[in-house]
Amino acid sequence: MSHPTYPHLLEPITLGAGPDALTLRNRVVMGSMHTGLEDHPWDIGRLSEFFAERARGGVGLIITGGYAPTKRGWLKPFASEMTNRLHAMRHERVTGTVHEAGGAIALQVLHAGRYGYHPLSQSASDKKSPITPFKPSAMSTKDVDHTATAFAKSVALARKAGYDAVEIMGSEGYLINQFLASRTNDRDDQWGGSAARRMHFPVEVVRRSRELVGDDFPIVYRISLLDLVEGGQTWEEIAELALHLQAAGVTVFNTGIGWHEARVPTIITQVPRGAWRSYTARLKQVVDVPVCASNRINTPELAEEILAAGEADLVSMARPLLADPAFVAKAMDERADEINTCIACNQACLDHVFANQRASCLVNPRACHETELVLVPTMRKQAVAVVGAGPAGLAAATSAAERGFAVTLFEKSTELGGQFRLAMAVPGKEDFADTLRYFTRRLEVLGVDVRLGVEASTDDLAGFDQVIVATGVVPRMPAIPGIDHASVASYADVLSGRVVPGKRVAVIGAGGIGVDVSVWLTHTDEDLDDWMAHWGVGDPALTAGGLTEAKPRTPAREVTLIQRKTTPIGIGLGKTSGWAHRAVLKQSKVTQVRGATYDRIDDDGVHITVDGSSHVIECDTVVVCAGQDSVRGLYDALSPLVEQGEGRAGVETKVHLIGGADVAAELDAKRAIKQGTEVVAAL
Ligand code: NAP
Ligand code: SF4
Repeated sequence: MSHPTYPHLLEPITLGAGPDALTLRNRVVMGSMHTGLEDHPWDIGRLSEFFAERARGGVGLIITGGYAPTKRGWLKPFASEMTNRLHAMRHERVTGTVHEAGGAIALQVLHAGRYGYHPLSQSASDKKSPITPFKPSAMSTKDVDHTATAFAKSVALARKAGYDAVEIMGSEGYLINQFLASRTNDRDDQWGGSAARRMHFPVEVVRRSRELVGDDFPIVYRISLLDLVEGGQTWEEIAELALHLQAAGVTVFNTGIGWHEARVPTIITQVPRGAWRSYTARLKQVVDVPVCASNRINTPELAEEILAAGEADLVSMARPLLADPAFVAKAMDERADEINTCIACNQACLDHVFANQRASCLVNPRACHETELVLVPTMRKQAVAVVGAGPAGLAAATSAAERGFAVTLFEKSTELGGQFRLAMAVPGKEDFADTLRYFTRRLEVLGVDVRLGVEASTDDLAGFDQVIVATGVVPRMPAIPGIDHASVASYADVLSGRVVPGKRVAVIGAGGIGVDVSVWLTHTDEDLDDWMAHWGVGDPALTAGGLTEAKPRTPAREVTLIQRKTTPIGIGLGKTSGWAHRAVLKQSKVTQVRGATYDRIDDDGVHITVDGSSHVIECDTVVVCAGQDSVRGLYDALSPLVEQGEGRAGVETKVHLIGGADVAAELDAKRAIKQGTEVVAAL
């Protein structure tokens, strides 16, 4: 019987035929994502548990992070590879654990080509990528032949290791893409020259893989539907490639959008949900085998909608499964409102990986730490008070209730969320509302006693065993002469709607919030077509790579963004998203001033000195985004009581300080949620 709410998403599908055919229990694919756990043999247990938790959560097919078919295909020095029997034997632990948990898993084979962050990298040519410091060496004709065979051997080893399928990574600008595009392939041997010859390498990879693993073993090929780089493929080439690959033995097409070096954001929050679905629908018209949609799909509703519309046969979600391992189980049980939705921030996943750290998740700090950050059910039901319902307090309250403590959450305002509520007002950060929906629902389900509009006093807290103080921060108002001028407002005033700014605005402070506020101030409503036009996304049938001239934005206000530092504005933002935020500032014609000293604020505007010269930034409103100060009054008041051992009769109250109330400097939701969870895990 089909599921009443998600009949398409939760319907089984069989990939391939014959004895190796793979029947998936539903259409949800956990897309490949490098977590950093792939790279070290000693992490194999952690990696297995990471996947097993997702398998228990009901996902149809898991795809691992990328494993190189040769050392020269590494993502970074000594990165993951699948090149010998020892590797295959080690992976039996992964496949065994996932199978025991009821799941199916595919290994992704990925050759980084010129994206390899090491001096041994190779590519179709010696053209350096704009995002890596290493110039690749151009592969010889023999190298290419050897690499196509190495791909096939990795595929065969994956089968030996017990994987249910493989995915060949042919998108995001990695080696296979580098062979396909004239941008990177200027060869004149059989592996380059014409478009047909550029296709030869991926087709050989699939053909040789099929030859080694027989007719039935499922081979997923991730195809780039839109390169979003100059000199990328045309739609005609992509469609022709798909047909050749299908003939060579591809079982399923997964899809990818944009090379890593593309200057169009493809997966971060500001990309509209489901932005790329029409491209998958287009591929589905071309091929006969199943097609999997991917990129910026993060709810079961949207996934169901895409499948129901016949645009795809499966839906791949990578980060949403990092955020909530039980995504599928919750959808199945009609508990979608309990899903911890990925907010596409990249802050703890891709930003970590690009900084050579283990991936995790901003909204789920247990991701990739399943064996280390464990919320063990408590043996002693202590009374826990959490004061403050920002991200730190919400994480602490829900984690404590999950462990079985009796939890009371006090919040001074009448709404949950603290600073996070302000963030979701920023254009392109609407998804952040889902995190508050998640926490609100979790508090309900877990039976937390939530007291909104209550500023907890020391008396209110006297009877608790544990008090977790998460009283947060207030916007800092720097001591600039004239800071109390009528034109001055804090970012909180503006984002909450308490103050409506005028047409000309000066923003003081260009950290994450200064940039966000500048985007908010200049933003005008845009639909998907406008968004595509502003980023110069066109039709690959008309221009190679799908790029066209970007349509200029008409900013809603004239904004000047000021900082004291002389470094480029926005340089400290997330590695994988900061560039896009900086691009929006430019598109929105925000004037950027660095190296400023604030002299005063008066009726004329903000007086500053830059390089010894005085300037006035004429404006109607000054918005201060100069960081935050901790709110610690309650903690300071509680400390003497703790020292005196007051609390429930005979029980000493233990007080913990977390979140912005603990450290305001550069506090973000990632650190807050992690700290809130960790403090409770240690109770
Ligand atoms: P922030 O990143 O610390 O930036 C505040 C800025 O204000 C500083 O960069 C500083 O720059 C300036 N400032 C500090 N004290 C000042 C003073 N006394 N007078 C004048 N200017 C002063 O803080 P935030 O922007 O409020 O962001 C808070 C946290 O949220 C950060 O951790 C941030 O990373 C995170 N966040 C991230 C994003 C994102 O990644 N997209 C978005 C929003 C928030 P100068 O001294 O150079 O002027
Ligand atoms: Fe999603 Fe952000 Fe978590 Fe990454 S860190 S999985 S983008 S919520």
